Amino acid sequence: MKRLLILLCMLPFFWGWGMPAHAMTISSINQSSVFSSGNDQENGMDSRANRAAAKALHLPSSTPTPTEGYRWPTRQLKIYMATHDRFLQSAFFGAVRAWNRTGAVHISWCHDEDRADIIAQDGSLTSTGTSSNVGYVSSQLGSTSTEYNPDTHALIRARSTLDPSQLDYTSRHFRTAVAEHELGHALGLAHAPEYMHSVMIPRNVRTGITRDDRATICLLYGLKR
Ligand SMILES: [Zn+2]
Repeated sequence: MKRLLILLCMLPFFWGWGMPAHAMTISSINQSSVFSSGNDQENGMDSRANRAAAKALHLPSSTPTPTEGYRWPTRQLKIYMATHDRFLQSAFFGAVRAWNRTGAVHISWCHDEDRADIIAQDGSLTSTGTSSNVGYVSSQLGSTSTEYNPDTHALIRARSTLDPSQLDYTSRHFRTAVAEHELGHALGLAHAPEYMHSVMIPRNVRTGITRDDRATICLLYGLKR
């Protein structure tokens, strides 16, 4: 059985007021939905699940930044650039470098989409819903969907989407922070509570990957610090 988790990072955008993009006030609504798409036959499913559970990946019991309860079975990962938007490409390149600097994973770019673990793409994310108040326009900046095996806790594939219509006119710093946040989901990180200093806080992507995030990714991938 496979499960697909879609993490919709609702990062409503604060327009106007002449503030630099990285200083913008951001509020968020986070939605996540889980549904399964089973290819398994009913017969023999339980025994397969039991065998798979026996091979479950070790996950740390607690981490500074919350995790989703799954990770890649390897620290060597491949990512495919599916967007041609040069601003978003730059953001994804920066985010990959930043996660590689943690030393916990090594993400390398590949030219074959079918062989990639993670897909870096663009897409319109405003169609999933907007809300507005006086002076605010809300829309989504990024989204990541992950496919994983719930028995082994192993990620199978992740797809991170950035919305060019929301991000192309922001700063490079801001775009890279959003890409780091989305790739954080692609590596198995969940949203952090607001009081934390983390790139995984949906309301605050002003910061990049923090010491807590680095500690978490190292724990998740079994790297002694
Ligand atoms: Zn998010």
